[in-house]
Amino acid sequence: MKKEHSLQGLNTMGFNVIAKYFCEINTLDDIKKLIDDKTFKESKKLFLGGGSNILFADEYFDGIVIHSNLKGISFVECEQSTDNGQPEFLTARCMSGETWKDFVDFTVSNNLYGLENLVDIPGSVGAAPVQNIGAYGSEVKDCITRVYAINIENGEERIFENEECNFAYRNSIFKKEENKKYFIYAIDFKLKKDAELKLEYGNIKEYLVKKNIESPTLSDVANAIKTIRAEKLPEVGVVGSVGSFFQNPIIDADKYQSIKETYPEVPSYPNDNGVKIPAGWLIDKAGWKGYRENHVGVWDKQALVLVHYGGGKPEEILNLMNKIQCSVKEEFGVEIKPEVNIV
Ligand SMILES: Cc1cc2nc3c(=O)[nH]c(=O)nc-3n(C[C@H](O)[C@H](O)[C@H](O)COP(=O)(O)OP(=O)(O)OC[C@H]3O[C@@H](n4cnc5c(N)ncnc54)[C@H](O)[C@@H]3O)c2cc1C
Repeated sequence: MKKEHSLQGLNTMGFNVIAKYFCEINTLDDIKKLIDDKTFKESKKLFLGGGSNILFADEYFDGIVIHSNLKGISFVECEQSTDNGQPEFLTARCMSGETWKDFVDFTVSNNLYGLENLVDIPGSVGAAPVQNIGAYGSEVKDCITRVYAINIENGEERIFENEECNFAYRNSIFKKEENKKYFIYAIDFKLKKDAELKLEYGNIKEYLVKKNIESPTLSDVANAIKTIRAEKLPEVGVVGSVGSFFQNPIIDADKYQSIKETYPEVPSYPNDNGVKIPAGWLIDKAGWKGYRENHVGVWDKQALVLVHYGGGKPEEILNLMNKIQCSVKEEFGVEIKPEVNIV
């Protein structure tokens, strides 16, 4: 266990946060031993992957940070097709300390379908189920079959089947306060040997047409999304961010109609609970896109992304967050909530 450890490279916002204690988990025994440690028992605990969905509210974390460095990918199951005896699905088990980008690249290079639209999302494999990461019309819940965890209060192992994870839009059982005791150590992903590619979302099709790709392969789609993302999002390690800072709000039909009267062009995605409106659109319309205040600001290519240009403090981002929330509430009467975990 390290003391007074810098998390500068472990939060993509890039704040110089110091953790009172830091513990890297290299084997499953490491976590089991840690559970019996007196300091561990008495400290506030935080699991930290790449810190790409965490905003430290303070520059000192007065507790213990547990970082998974568990590595390894293996194929554990396959299901044969009845037609030709070839495997139709393969299940890959990936340890939580693997980098998500590397894991997706591995599946694409092995011609396995399912995760290609989730390429280049920063962070670790272990955090992927926590907020049910999603992008370009895909969500990780559609490939996860099992999540393997250890309860750090008593050392018991628990396997969560997909249905037990209560996956929803940027949400899962692991986000609940009472489940923050589960250290995720591995995940099973069911991947297809063949499948239809999802090209409908965003400007994937437009990109492929521009490149004269008529019958795109799995890696064509992955490469297209990589390029589109790189054009829109700040580069990790260069400009601090956590990607989408706010969740897209779901509003009732009356509220949607009243916004539509003033802004007929408002983008909308009806669902079972109401109408989902892109938070980035609301922030943009409220005039924040490209705004800068000292060390922090709103990304000029995507208003949903708050950025830290370096040398700033977490409170600057928190102040900006509050200002944007108030401004959107005033302009549209809509509350926008952070997607990022504030700790
Ligand atoms: C530029 C940029 C683009 C992004 N684009 C997207 C996107 O397209 N879609 C999307 O969904 N997200 C996106 N994100 C957000 C982020 O990358 C994901 O949420 C990612 O899964 C976080 O991984 P992490 O390892 O950094 O998790 P962290 O930020 O370290 O942790 C996130 C949460 O998971 C918990 N956690 C971490 N590891 C474990 C573990 N082993 N066991 C239990 N709990 C754990 C943490 O306690 C915390 O609650 C983006 C972020 C950035 C910076």
